[in-house]
Amino acid sequence: MLENSERRTVDLAGTGPSTRAVHAGTLRGPDIQPVVPPIYPSVSYMAENPDDLRAVLAGEKEGYVYSRNGNPTVAALRESIAALEGAGDAVVFASGMAAIHAALLAVGVQAGTTLVASRDLYGVTVSLLNTVFVPMGVRVVYADLTNTEEARRTIEREQPVAVYCETVSNPTLRLVDIAALAEVAHDHRALLLVDNTFATPLLVRALEQGADVSITSTTKYLSGHGDVVGGAAAGAWDVCGRMATMGVFVGGIAGPFEAWLTLRGIRTLGLRVPRQCSTALAIAHMLEAHPKVARVHYPGLPSHPQHELATRLLGGRYGGMVSFELGEDTTEAACRVLGALELCLAATSLGDVFTLLLHPVSSSHLTMSPKDRERAGVKPGLLRISAGIEDDADVLADLAQALDRA
Ligand code: PLP
Repeated sequence: MLENSERRTVDLAGTGPSTRAVHAGTLRGPDIQPVVPPIYPSVSYMAENPDDLRAVLAGEKEGYVYSRNGNPTVAALRESIAALEGAGDAVVFASGMAAIHAALLAVGVQAGTTLVASRDLYGVTVSLLNTVFVPMGVRVVYADLTNTEEARRTIEREQPVAVYCETVSNPTLRLVDIAALAEVAHDHRALLLVDNTFATPLLVRALEQGADVSITSTTKYLSGHGDVVGGAAAGAWDVCGRMATMGVFVGGIAGPFEAWLTLRGIRTLGLRVPRQCSTALAIAHMLEAHPKVARVHYPGLPSHPQHELATRLLGGRYGGMVSFELGEDTTEAACRVLGALELCLAATSLGDVFTLLLHPVSSSHLTMSPKDRERAGVKPGLLRISAGIEDDADVLADLAQALDRA
């Protein structure tokens, strides 16, 4: 490992998340001092001799042999995300789903074990659990983990190997008290895995709150420009070692081009997210006053049932995601609103520079059964908004005219 002085990296001890977003993960070395790290597309790397190659592959020596095992550009992204999360290490994957899969395996979710999972989860995560892990022999018990007392009773009763939740849930924006849930999980020797995609490590550092693994779909806020799919999971060295091994064996690793784009996106995270939070708050207020809207879900509104927890957990900014229920609770009404948009885009994904609207029943939560959707509060007339970085007035005007016309 090179000393900081040789690498010309900045000492990040005690710095804030925006500084880390800019300065961590630079790939500088004694012979080369680029401000921006290069892309290393090479699949393989030459070794001095076979023993060196063996030592690198065995993890006894630092270096690169083959890109599925390790790549310098990917390593720079790992360093950047670990710094953002305040983690020992981070492992990056080809998608958020690959990160979730690897993290679950790495913490010991396997045949004969029990996983307690939140009822409020991204639909594809529920499908991963029900169609991959359950047939493998894992017992998955769903509970309302936004209610710490229900979480305690379920964990006491089920004695799971791990507990899985989202900091801010997709799409109903319910919050989990991470610190309280971590305490309950650890009392029962279970590890806590948190999908922190909606909150981002800029607003919530789940590991500092007690979580064991913090997972992010880097497709969203971290890359931030809607042009790269990726995922990351951060945690202690031992868990990350196992996740990295999962990456090597299962193969869902991040490629160098994707890693580079994600790193470029992360540099402006500290500018984009606060802007998206303030636009989301303005959208939430506008929607709350609109006659066609029955209910707005936004943690920053005093009407949100967990507003107090949100203030504590998210540190006074409430995220860039808003969802709302139309008075006419039908898919047709939701589609009419999407069809009337002129500036905001009706598209999947979130966390981009573009303001995006999505109908969860027909997209993000399509693969969930209607019963599971109903239990998670995903209604036909629910729409989800991801605030972009356009001018607030333009976004508000477009949403208002779409609602008026629909
Ligand atoms: N977690 C959450 C909360 C998500 O919203 C998504 C995707 O929308 C994922 C995980 C999966 O991420 P990816 O699409 O990068 O696989």
